Amino acid sequence: MQRLWWPAAVAAFSLLAGVSLAGAQRAAESAHPVYYVETRQKAMALTFDVSWGDKMLPKVLAVLQAEHQQATFFVSGPWAQTHPDLVKAILAGGNELASHGQAHVDLGGRSASAIADNLAAADTILRTYTGSTALRFFRPPNGDWSGRVVETARGLGYETIIWSIDSLDWKNPGINVIVRRVVSGAFPGAIILLHASDTCRQTDLALPSIIQDLRRGGWRLVTLGQLWAMGPAVRRDPRGSGVRPNWPPVEGASSAGTAPSSMAPGRNAAPRAAPGSPPVPAVSSGGAAA
Ligand SMILES: [Zn+2]
Repeated sequence: MQRLWWPAAVAAFSLLAGVSLAGAQRAAESAHPVYYVETRQKAMALTFDVSWGDKMLPKVLAVLQAEHQQATFFVSGPWAQTHPDLVKAILAGGNELASHGQAHVDLGGRSASAIADNLAAADTILRTYTGSTALRFFRPPNGDWSGRVVETARGLGYETIIWSIDSLDWKNPGINVIVRRVVSGAFPGAIILLHASDTCRQTDLALPSIIQDLRRGGWRLVTLGQLWAMGPAVRRDPRGSGVRPNWPPVEGASSAGTAPSSMAPGRNAAPRAAPGSPPVPAVSSGGAAA
């Protein structure tokens, strides 16, 4: 019997070590931001960052209204303070309000108290619009994060959200480029990043094709809160990995959006994500945005 003890002990130890390793990995990942949601439904979150200007946002809201589409808007505190009518217009359209922090600076290297001050200042302003309804989501300026950012934000009631599909609309690369980047990168549970600050001059012009092309492909665009309810949040960055997460999607959930392109005359020029898992286009994560 003594000889059997050792293998059993080794097996038990390995099991415990494995469990604790998995636990440690989960703990490490919990200090990461969210990139997408685990779901096979053909749904993606449409999100905009807003930090300055009063020209682009009304145009974006007009497109959303015309398309009967809602989105999530990450707005910065100072902008919300100086543009009350536009914040109210965001909410009046049935859109979701989220925090883009206060000063638009990289927070990844800051202390916990500096991060908390930034978030709390924005929270105080944004709560004047949402009343008792707490905001749930925070997108750090420039997507710059650290474990301290994620955990400090969580302590204040916020989940830190990055994105999985970057339109790069803030570079004004051309309407078709913006549309193609978003549509060809589609995958279930993705979080799409656009901007509604005035430095972006093509976002409102690209938005109708983004919405219509995706709908024709059977995709549904939702708010982040709605996507959140579809599956667990994923804290691993899929960008640049060449892997399309949650693929293949579950077909047949939407009958309105699955018409073949031959039934949509005159709109065959825009590329769309084809079933069969093409490679994910290279997605840049660096650089400053609005
Ligand atoms: Zn920004």
